[in-house]
Amino acid sequence: MSEITVDYLIVGQGLAGSCVAWQLLKAGKRIAVIDQRSQNRCSIVAAGLFNPVTGQHLKKTWLARETFEYLHSFYPEIEQAAKTDFFYPLPLYRPFISVEEQNEWLSHTVDPVYDGILKRVNGHSQYAGLHDSLGGITLAQSGFINTQRFLDTVREIVIKNGYFFDERCDYGEIVLPKESVQYRNITARKILFCEGVHTAANPWFSGIPMRPLKGETLEIKSDFAEQVIVNRGVYMVPGKEKGEWKIGSTYNARDKSEGNTANGIEELKGKLKQLLKSEFDIIRSDWGIRPTTPDRRPIMGAHPTDNRLIIFNGLGTKGVSLAPYFSDILVRWLENGAPVAKEVDVTRFKVLS
Ligand SMILES: Cc1cc2nc3c(=O)[nH]c(=O)nc-3n(C[C@H](O)[C@H](O)[C@H](O)COP(=O)(O)OP(=O)(O)OC[C@H]3O[C@@H](n4cnc5c(N)ncnc54)[C@H](O)[C@@H]3O)c2cc1C
Repeated sequence: MSEITVDYLIVGQGLAGSCVAWQLLKAGKRIAVIDQRSQNRCSIVAAGLFNPVTGQHLKKTWLARETFEYLHSFYPEIEQAAKTDFFYPLPLYRPFISVEEQNEWLSHTVDPVYDGILKRVNGHSQYAGLHDSLGGITLAQSGFINTQRFLDTVREIVIKNGYFFDERCDYGEIVLPKESVQYRNITARKILFCEGVHTAANPWFSGIPMRPLKGETLEIKSDFAEQVIVNRGVYMVPGKEKGEWKIGSTYNARDKSEGNTANGIEELKGKLKQLLKSEFDIIRSDWGIRPTTPDRRPIMGAHPTDNRLIIFNGLGTKGVSLAPYFSDILVRWLENGAPVAKEVDVTRFKVLS
């Protein structure tokens, strides 16, 4: 085996590892990536949705302006470089469930907080195939990425411009001689861990309080075939073919099992029936486990006792919108020492030593 020398060795190529790999290559760095897809394929299962207002009461999401501005140029830049497509900006429609809600949103039309985000307040039904008799809001700046295609694209880019190893990283073989990191035949300046919930097996970062949050999804076929994202109780994101939809998701912090559950599928079917008038057939179901944190903020930075060991994780339920922006912050910190906000710095957890 020939010796390989790189600037960074990245472990894990989900959304976190992919975004940071792209940023490092763009900065002219030499990289090697080790990733073996596991049963939990969190980034691939994701519907890839990005939406600047989230939660039950549709509040503007944390750092919406910065992260959304960033992602709207980040993904198209990679599409153009690789001559492919995986980024689909699309309006998001959310039906009203009460007249009070309708009135509340009418008042938001003059609220500067929703400038550029609230596209339209619709006072009556927009889609015959939906239960939306009271109308609903149409939001801008939303859309989805085809996460599978995005990850495959970045993998191809890494193969062409660096080194890629489709294998499990054995932590026991990571050696830390003076000023470098050694893994088998690879020598790197630093090692970046982007393992999602699998960080629990990492000997240096297993202490961070990761909160695994399982989610189940469905893929369905229906007569409803509009080009729009629908979100109420569940989201509906257009699939590959007309009338195919990705439906998600459940949020279950207690269930650690691998695989779909009857409860999860029933929950999604029940919520979907409240939203979709048309009949539907289930094509397949899927599941994944999100790497969430107690304060719902990403995690990045160096291990407090060894600055060669770097983590990028904790993307939680919003990997698609957080990973581009924070991978840029991470790389500017690594290369130029640009500051990282305390609220995302790994050292906010006092459990590492
Ligand atoms: C059902 C569901 C729906 C979702 N929908 C959305 C959505 O619509 N929009 C959104 O923004 N977010 C969504 N999310 C959240 C999003 O998927 C996560 O934020 C994101 O995928 C986390 O990415 P990650 O790279 O940190 O982790 P992962 O995707 O888990 O990637 C980690 C990678 O590292 C590999 N790995 C780990 N350890 C090793 C090792 N020792 N050796 C080699 N490889 C290793 C793993 O196999 C994996 O490939 C959803 C999540 C779920 C579960």
